[in-house]
Amino acid sequence: MQIRDKFYIGGQWVAPSAKETIEVHNAGTGEVMGTVPAGGERDIAAAVGAAQAALQAWSQTPAEKRAEFLQKISDGLKARAEEIAKTIAQEVGMPIKLAGRIQAGLPIANFANYARIAREYEFEERVGNSVVVQDPVGVVGAITPWNYPLHQIALKVAPALAAGCTVVLKPSEIAPFNAFILAEVVAAAGLPKGVFNLVTGFGPVVGEALVKHPQVDMISFTGSTRAGKRISELAAQSVKRVALELGGKSASVILEDADLAAAVKGTVNGCYLNSGQTCTALTRMLVPQSKYDEVAKLAVEAAKGFTLGDPMQESTRLGPLSSQMQLERVRGYIKKGVEEGAEVLTGGAEKPDGLPGGYFVKPTIFGKVKNSMAIAQEEIFGPVLCLIAYQDEDEAVRIANDSPYGLAGAVWSKDEARAQAVARRIRAGQIDVNGGAFNMNAPFGGFKQSGHGREAGVYGLEEFLEYKSLQLKG
Ligand code: NAD
Repeated sequence: MQIRDKFYIGGQWVAPSAKETIEVHNAGTGEVMGTVPAGGERDIAAAVGAAQAALQAWSQTPAEKRAEFLQKISDGLKARAEEIAKTIAQEVGMPIKLAGRIQAGLPIANFANYARIAREYEFEERVGNSVVVQDPVGVVGAITPWNYPLHQIALKVAPALAAGCTVVLKPSEIAPFNAFILAEVVAAAGLPKGVFNLVTGFGPVVGEALVKHPQVDMISFTGSTRAGKRISELAAQSVKRVALELGGKSASVILEDADLAAAVKGTVNGCYLNSGQTCTALTRMLVPQSKYDEVAKLAVEAAKGFTLGDPMQESTRLGPLSSQMQLERVRGYIKKGVEEGAEVLTGGAEKPDGLPGGYFVKPTIFGKVKNSMAIAQEEIFGPVLCLIAYQDEDEAVRIANDSPYGLAGAVWSKDEARAQAVARRIRAGQIDVNGGAFNMNAPFGGFKQSGHGREAGVYGLEEFLEYKSLQLKG
C-alpha cells in the first residue's frame, strides 16, 4: 500500500486542510493500491499563494540557470525510472516494458529537451525601435489526465518552468502516485520553494478551485472535452489564458495503393496502444471498398497478436483498462456498436477468460461501420477499432474530417506525394504518413473539439510566454 498524506507546497510537504482521502486502484488486479489526499479550496489557495510568491524571482532567474534545474529533474527521474514504470504500470495498466519506454522514458526525455530549449531559445528580439521581450505568462495551473500521467505532466511543467512560470499541478486522481515521485525529484533538485507545487484531489473540487483562482494566470489542461468545456467557461470569468488538449477520434486512411500489411499493422498498433487509452489512437480505419475483405482479415489477425494479461509480465501485449468506470464505458460502447448494426469481427463485450481481477476487455474490431454511428463519432478510449469502407479518395477525406474532433490521423500509400497530399486535406493536428515516427519536437495538439494550443518542443514553450514591447527612444 502506498500512502501519501501530504501535499508539496512552498518547498515543503504539508498536511492537507481536511482528512478525506482518495483510493487508487491497481488496474491489473482491481485492488486498492494506496491513497492520496483529497484536497480542497484552502489547499489550492496555499499552493497558488506559494507559486505567486516565487514568481518574481523565478521569472528573473537566467534561462541558463532554469535549464540546469530542468536537467537535474530529468536526471532525478532517470535515477527512478524503474520505480516510475512500475508505478504507472499498476495505476494505468500499461504493460511494464512499454511503460518503461513510454511512461518513464518520455518525461525523462522531455525535461532534458526543455533544458536544451531554455538554453537555446531567443527570449527577446529587436523590432525597429522596440525590444520585444517574451515574459512568462505567470502562475500556471496544470490539470492532467491518467492515461500517460507523467508524460502529460512533463509536457506542461517542463516548458512552464523553462519559460519562467511557476506551477501548481493537479494530477489525475486515478493515477496520482507518479506525480509524488516528480515532487520528490523536484525537491531533491533544489528548485526554489514555491516554483513547483502539488495538490491532489477531485476535478470538480480542487480542479475547479484552481481554475477559478484569481491569481492563476493560465490553465493548461489535458483531459476530456467535457471537462475542457467546463474549464473554459470558468476561466473566462477571470480572463485566464487556457490551453486545452482534449479527446480524439482519429482516422487512419488506407489508400488503395498502400502496403496493406504495413498499414493495417500500423493502424491496429496505433489503436491498441495503452489499451486504446491514447488520445491520438487511430480508432477509425478507412478502407477502400475494393480492399475491404482483405483488410478485415489482416486486422483480425493483427488483433489476435495482442495477448491480454497482467501488465507486470514482460510477455503481455495488451493490459487492462485503467478503472472500473472505463471498463463499463468501453463495454457499453461495444454493446452499442452491436445495437447500431456494426459487425463484431473479433472481441466483444463479454469478460475475457482466465483473467479474474483487473479491468480487462477483449481487443475488439467492428466491421461494416457507418461513420454516423456513435462508435465512429464518440471517443471510446478502449481497444475498439472501427472499419469504415469508402468509394474514392474524396469520400475518404470527407469521412476523416466528419468528426467533432481533429487531433491526429494517418495516411498510407506507396506514393509518398499522394499520401502527403491527402494528409494536408485532413483537419487534425498531427498526421503520420506511412507510419512516420513520433517526434518529440513537433507540435502536438488539436483542431476543432480536440482543443487549442500546442505542446512539445519550442511550440510548447511558447504557450507559456507573453509578449511585452519596450519602446526605446534611441
Ligand atoms: P478528465 O477530463 O475526466 O480528467 C482530466 C483531469 O481533469 C483530471 O485531473 C480531473 O480530475 C480533472 N477534472 C475533471 N473535471 C474537472 C473540472 N470540472 N474542473 C477542473 N478539473 C477537472 O479526463 P481523463 O478521464 O482523466 O482523461 C481521458 C481524456 O483525456 C480523454 O478524453 C483523452 O482523449 C484526453 N486526453 C487528451 C490528450 C491530448 O493531448 N489531447 C492526452 C491525453 C488524454
